[in-house]
Amino acid sequence: MIPVNQPLLGPKEEAAVLEAVRSGWISSEGAAVGKFEAGWAAVCNRKHGIAVSSGTAALDTAVYALRLPAGSEVIMPTFTIVSCVNAVIKNGLKPVFVDADPVYWGLAVEQIEERITPKTSAIMAVHIYGHPVDMDKVMALARAHNLLVIEDAAEAHGSHCRDRICGSFGDVSVFSFYANKIITTGEGGMILCDDDAIAERCRCYRDLGFMKERRFLHQNRGENYRMTNIQAALGLAQIGRLAEFLALKKKMGALYTSLLRDIPDIQLPASSDWGENIYWVYGIVLGDSYPFDAAQLAERLKEMGIGTRPFFYGMHQQPFLHDMGIGLGEQFPVCERISHRGLYLPSGLSLSEDHIREVASSLKSALLSLTALPRQQPGEATGLKQTPTIAVILPTYNEKGNIVRLIDALSTQIKYPAEFIVVDDNSPDRTAEAVSELARHRSDVKLILRENERGLTSAIQAGIDQSRSDIVVWMDVDFSHPPEKVPELIARILSGGYDAAIGSRYIPGGADELQNLANPVILVQKLCTRILNWFTRVVTGVPFHDWTSGFIAIRGDTIRQVRLCGDYGEYFIFLMARLCALQARWVEVPFNNIPREVGETKTASGFLGLLSRGIHYISAVFKATHLMRRPSVRRNRLEGHIQRRVVRR
Ligand SMILES: *Cc1c(COP(=O)(O)O)cnc(C)c1O
Repeated sequence: MIPVNQPLLGPKEEAAVLEAVRSGWISSEGAAVGKFEAGWAAVCNRKHGIAVSSGTAALDTAVYALRLPAGSEVIMPTFTIVSCVNAVIKNGLKPVFVDADPVYWGLAVEQIEERITPKTSAIMAVHIYGHPVDMDKVMALARAHNLLVIEDAAEAHGSHCRDRICGSFGDVSVFSFYANKIITTGEGGMILCDDDAIAERCRCYRDLGFMKERRFLHQNRGENYRMTNIQAALGLAQIGRLAEFLALKKKMGALYTSLLRDIPDIQLPASSDWGENIYWVYGIVLGDSYPFDAAQLAERLKEMGIGTRPFFYGMHQQPFLHDMGIGLGEQFPVCERISHRGLYLPSGLSLSEDHIREVASSLKSALLSLTALPRQQPGEATGLKQTPTIAVILPTYNEKGNIVRLIDALSTQIKYPAEFIVVDDNSPDRTAEAVSELARHRSDVKLILRENERGLTSAIQAGIDQSRSDIVVWMDVDFSHPPEKVPELIARILSGGYDAAIGSRYIPGGADELQNLANPVILVQKLCTRILNWFTRVVTGVPFHDWTSGFIAIRGDTIRQVRLCGDYGEYFIFLMARLCALQARWVEVPFNNIPREVGETKTASGFLGLLSRGIHYISAVFKATHLMRRPSVRRNRLEGHIQRRVVRR
């Protein structure tokens, strides 16, 4: 396997670390820390350097030290690492996102101004993958609006914006020295600044808020973010090699570009008027003409022995932030496109020229082999490979009695390589324990255990996010969706050329067994379901019969273009709306609904519960109908509305 990122360490680094160990100075006390700080500050033309334990710690410290007004807004890119947003939130500030630049992938500077409000206090600029953000523009904007600037140069050691080095711009600038960064200390980071007071606050914060005057008396909260002398010694040796590393990166980038330039409709890293790319990593983005996404390409490359990493996932799409009301319903089209269609190739400093040639030729054949199987019309052969991989997503809540048995049944039924992704919302009956037990001896069983109850829709989405398979299936775990039906759903995609096959109780051959007729709640429920199905079909005009099915097999490349939204009972309507907007081909497959077995659900019952769900359902139908007619215009507002409502409950 050609690794994605491997540092280049030599005898100088070995000697430096050995010397630190032999000297006995292994904690953060020791001469190397100060020398490393001064050394890196000098490289970046800064007065102060404060070494810390990671780039994440550096960001937290930097934001802390600026003393921005509580609750004020920090404008930052959505396309970045989570450390950036964590630093903002942790310090009691509000992140305000801007999209990525479509060519350079750093923050879209021209979108900053429209997001400035009276509450804005700072801009966080992040250089992405080795190309600098136009810091002259950012600084000018900041000065005009009296804002402070945090510059994250963790991916841009030694890179320049015009003739100034990155890390020299921000009121505070930060670096990471993690193992895959251009300069490394294993784990580590640094804050750079020119202001004495800010530097002092950083030093105090990194050291638990200790003060020189009186130890163990703390005026301010602090963290233990100290860097060890051993790490600093390693870093010092690395600084001495910066020019060598940059030359290597430049050569690597130029070679990749010369080998990949001819591939049609693929975006390669660019340099700009204001900055040369130093290719921290070599990213590529697939154009829309490719009928597969970066995840599928990565999978194919992995089979060929080539490691890759996906691009960042937008901060506006993070479930933990949605729980806090951040990013809900926001859309940043560039970020969303490149996070699905972008990945980076092996880029480590220890990569040889032969490796790069091998990666390039593997990439070309992977693209060809994936493209050679175009998507076809229903009835014809499918574009999927001979042996597709299947992911079965199993959302559980109190299903301890069913889950293991169901996975066993599915394993015998599905004849293709399959993974079973169980998403459990911390069931009181300890479903998760039973699954972990199973996963210990079965590598095809994966457990996503979520601490908060986030509901069915987000559980399925979490499973989709985790899956890399050609076909994604999800179903209820209580055997109301028969496992023996799954192969038929898959077969309809494979041989029928459909994008999705959906289990349906209300077409010929399917049935919803009316058991328990004596129970009025169940009776009303069944009756309502039928009326609502009819209603939905009439209002939307989509000839689909089982709008609460929840039993589906769908192509991975199709479902990865959709984000599920809406409550249990509504999400399927929105999913269908999206499939219609994407012009996906779906087919209904009849199945018999078997009465539930063991397990206690979270589903609301009782008359008022049903009534409220019915009303939500009806309003969802109208919104979805709207969505189908004007897909792009309404989507944004609509999803925001729905997701906010779900979170509030
Ligand atoms: C790597 C990185 C960080 C975090 O650094 P760690 O040392 O891994 O904590 C922060 N920002 C960016 C842009 C990074 O690439």
